[in-house]
Formats: sequence, structure tokens, C-alpha cells
Amino acid sequence: MVLFLSTVYNGQNYVAKLRQRPVTTAKGYKQTVQVFGNKPRAMLDIPEFIEEYNLWMCGVDIADQLRSYYNTNRVHRKTWKPLFSFLLDTVVGNSYMLSSYKQPPGERALRQDSHLQFCRDLRDALLHASIRPRQPKTSQKRKTMMEVTWLPVKEHQHVKLWRKQAFCSACARARRTTSTPHRAARKPLADLSENTTRKARSDSNGWKRPYRTPRTLYGCSVCRIPLCTRKECWAEHLAILNSKD
Ligand SMILES: [Zn+2]
Ligand SMILES: [Zn+2]
Repeated sequence: MVLFLSTVYNGQNYVAKLRQRPVTTAKGYKQTVQVFGNKPRAMLDIPEFIEEYNLWMCGVDIADQLRSYYNTNRVHRKTWKPLFSFLLDTVVGNSYMLSSYKQPPGERALRQDSHLQFCRDLRDALLHASIRPRQPKTSQKRKTMMEVTWLPVKEHQHVKLWRKQAFCSACARARRTTSTPHRAARKPLADLSENTTRKARSDSNGWKRPYRTPRTLYGCSVCRIPLCTRKECWAEHLAILNSKD
């Protein structure tokens, strides 16, 4: 603080200020009382930075007070996080002091909760500013069996194409389903899931084992149609290609 004040002020500037005569018990009374003489008050030239300090010395306390009202209520276990919270709370407090929410000193406060209202409006404005229009889903529509690219048959390769599984177009067209329903690996000694204990029966109309179209990472390198590793799926793709020739 002293370093900061001595950087801003050179100590050469003085301001005239009406000062009270110190009380008799005050430190350095004998020296200071000579300046006042008999008068209880006197206009004295005091260094500008002393004046500034006297005016604003409670500023830090006000900042602490402002921060204490609506501070970041979070448990911190890392050293830099409370620093961030401190800075955030300080910024919010300072912004409030500079905002029109804060009544100028001397004027009676129109609303007692102007600080709270400021925090609420700030929250709403920040949330509103963060709203982004929903992005359309990026996954491209999977091709059907007929959407082939007419290149020579020998250029079509059955290869691994994707990192996410897609429904096999050939199986979907032929209404083939998974031979074994997909089931997550069971942990040892864990309870059996209902899907395992309840068997699908022909007379049961309540529960049916979910058979689905097989999914695959493979497809045609040219047409980019998902085709699973069953022999008939690739054969059906080649058959459609050959039907054109
Ligand atoms: Zn193809
Ligand atoms: Zn298939």
C-alpha cells in the first residue's frame, strides 16, 4: 500500500484541509498543538497522499464487505482456485460499485436490495449470453443399399470404415436381426439382470427379447454403405453392382 501510494504521489503536492485540534492525550500533542494555538480547528496544508488515504482508507473494508455478501460458495482444495474466486468476487463487487444499481453517496437508497438485484441481473445476462442455437446433429444419414456408386466392381472393397457402429444396410433391407442379443458383460458374482433370468417364450406377450438389425464398423470403401461382416451382406452389395452391368 505504501509502495503503491509512493508510486502515484511524489509528496510535493499539498491540499488545505480543515483539521481538528488533537486531544491532549494524542501522540505528539505538544508539537501539533502549537500549530492550532487556541483554535479548535485550523486550515492546514497536508500532503495529498495523506488526504487520499484518509478519504479512501475504508475502501478495502468496503470491498471486503461487498465480497462477503454474495461470494463464491465453493469448497476449495487447490491454492489457485480461491484466488480465482477472490478475483471474480472482486470484479463483481467493483462492477456493482460502478454500476447504476449503486445509489450515489448522499442519496437515499431507492431499494435496499440493489446489490442483490445487480447480482441476479448479472447472472441472467451471463446465462443469456451463453445461449447458443442448437447445432444440427453431425452424424450423416446412413445410406441405403441402393445408393451405390457406379464404379467397376473390383474397386469396391469391404473394409473397416467407421469408429462408431452403424446399422448394416443389407441386414436392414433383408430384415435380418442379431443372432444373439447384445448383452453387456456380467461382472463375476453380480446379480443376474432381468434380461437373463426372464426367458423369451412364444406364449409370453409381456416381454420379448430385443432382436435388432446388426451393427458394424465395416462398409464399402467406394459407396460408404455400412455392411456387416456376414457373407450375404457383401454378396448382396456385389449383386446390386452387377445388376447394372
Ligand atoms: Zn460399393
Ligand atoms: Zn449385414
